[in-house]
Amino acid sequence: MLNIVLFGPPGAGKGTQSENIISKYKLTHLSTGDLFRKHLGEGTELGKLARKFMDEGRLVPDEVVIDMVDDKIANTLGTNGFIFDGFPRTVAQAEALDKLMKKNKIEISGMIALDVAEDILKERIRERGKTSGRTDDQDEAKIETRIRVYLDETLPVAEYYEKQGKFTKINGVGTIEDIFADITKVIDRY
Ligand code: ADP
Repeated sequence: MLNIVLFGPPGAGKGTQSENIISKYKLTHLSTGDLFRKHLGEGTELGKLARKFMDEGRLVPDEVVIDMVDDKIANTLGTNGFIFDGFPRTVAQAEALDKLMKKNKIEISGMIALDVAEDILKERIRERGKTSGRTDDQDEAKIETRIRVYLDETLPVAEYYEKQGKFTKINGVGTIEDIFADITKVIDRY
């Protein structure tokens, strides 16, 4: 099984590259942001709980995220593998994911980090906000908060995988095709 963590700040292109990876390697997409937006749209209890955090650009509490991921993995085992997009976002989530993997007798192949400078990220998020309908993409303060939360809480997750020898950083600026070509080179070495 191929189980890939696609990592990077908001606006790095994780969603776009996930789609490419899924169609080439036939993996199951596990995007916690998408799962939360689905719950929000369906008005579930989980959605109601997540809304206030998402609206402010803050992280949804770890236990909530981890339970949701546990459910999703349990319900989709038997695929070629997973692409984790927007998860793990804290070291506690990374530790929990390792436990979930162990429980299901699978493991993370590696983390691929998309590297993009902050001014480019903000520009991309503002652009996406024009069509995504996402309120967190349309407000400067929320964009700032998400980038700060990424730097404070999420960046240490890269180190967590680096210590396990599972970390590769690639340039996230360029054409979608060129970036995807770099990603496939990494995946084909797993
Ligand atoms: P982006 O990468 O553009 O910030 P996402 O779709 O990944 O967008 O996430 C949107 C929001 O959903 C986040 O700002 C956060 O509130 C919540 N969220 C998504 N994934 C997680 C996670 N793993 N842990 C905590 N909160 C999360």
